[in-house]
Amino acid sequence: MANKSTFSSEEIFSLDSKHITKTYARAPIALVRGEGAVACDPEGRRFIDFGSGIGVNSFGFCDAEYVRAVTEQLISIQHCSNLYYTEPCARLAELLCEKSGMKRVFFGNSGAEANEGVIKIIRKYAHDKYGDARNRIITLTNSFHGRTITTLAATGQDVFHHDFGPFPEGFSHVDIGDCDAVRALVAGGDCAGIMVETVQGEGGVNTVPADFLKFLDEITEENDMLLAVDEVQTGCGRTGEFFSYMHFGITPDVVSAAKGLGGGLPIGAVLVGERAENVLGPGNHGSTFGGNPVCCAGAISVVTRLDEEFLAGVVASAERMRAKLASIPEVTALTGLGLMIGVELDPALGIKTADVLAACRDRGLLVLSAKTRVRMLPPLNISDEAIDEGCKIFAEVCASLKAKQ
Ligand SMILES: *Cc1c(COP(=O)(O)O)cnc(C)c1O
Repeated sequence: MANKSTFSSEEIFSLDSKHITKTYARAPIALVRGEGAVACDPEGRRFIDFGSGIGVNSFGFCDAEYVRAVTEQLISIQHCSNLYYTEPCARLAELLCEKSGMKRVFFGNSGAEANEGVIKIIRKYAHDKYGDARNRIITLTNSFHGRTITTLAATGQDVFHHDFGPFPEGFSHVDIGDCDAVRALVAGGDCAGIMVETVQGEGGVNTVPADFLKFLDEITEENDMLLAVDEVQTGCGRTGEFFSYMHFGITPDVVSAAKGLGGGLPIGAVLVGERAENVLGPGNHGSTFGGNPVCCAGAISVVTRLDEEFLAGVVASAERMRAKLASIPEVTALTGLGLMIGVELDPALGIKTADVLAACRDRGLLVLSAKTRVRMLPPLNISDEAIDEGCKIFAEVCASLKAKQ
């Protein structure tokens, strides 16, 4: 990996801190080049990436097949409006429907935009059949659905519910497993649908129990409400199935995807099943950049490779990585599914998650956090060697932080 940056890390930090809004608490690392699961900073320091961005770089950095697919599209046609057709957009939609059994796809550019589409579809379905009064959407405590005003309202975390009000009405949050709360809301007669993650990513890598998901599937079906699964973080092979809901034997009516779908380029998708297939018509929804052919070409290269054999490889890598992590004495629990891993360190040790992230960085390993847990979302095609090397660093970090307590 050659170093192509003309700026030093310090120069990049200083420029950024002068001119970028203060929205991100960035770690002091600038990345200029990557290959597979490894990236380099301008000074040539090497980092193993157990984050894939935030679950975005499905095939790691600059995967050859991905780069070829994107480049070929880029030099053919980079954009045309949604007033016209493009092949990558149509082909990607076909692929997503084949993989999921869903009927149609709307393309946007991000997870939040996809979930805005989900919310509009849930509401319009109810509006068309039952009128305006049926508009409530139930989501879960600790969920995360995005940063737009409406997806913040949908997000079941009070930390997001101030500073930007008034927020749109019509969202109710229930705790994972609280069937009675769901029943009571549905009995109120104004519920249009339910939106859930199967594994809450930002909320702490919490897996929602299968029986609760089944219950949500049934109660939405019985009451002609739509069930939406937010697969923005869990989707596209991350958990070892194409979509994570496939682990649970449920059939959502609407599914959102983003993060890992584009392999590094911005794309969001809303998939609709049979019941919701015709909810959106001409003029109901749109997106200038949605379905961009370059992003779609990248996504096609990701999605076509997520066949059964590849997903079996994801499961095997997850087993290897989870076994390595479980053998670390300071680790008391592993959560999540497949290569979406929440790591819990023994709370009695009092080790701060932020200190774990910093110590990992110092030793050349990039990991994420989610609430009190360390979160790992490595590239789906990560090699055994990179898994072993990263887990070894993580074990050293745990041991050294324990010694410091
Ligand atoms: C990241 C995330 C979002 C928001 O996606 P953006 O692309 O940042 O808008 C929504 N839902 C879930 C589950 C996510 O993990």
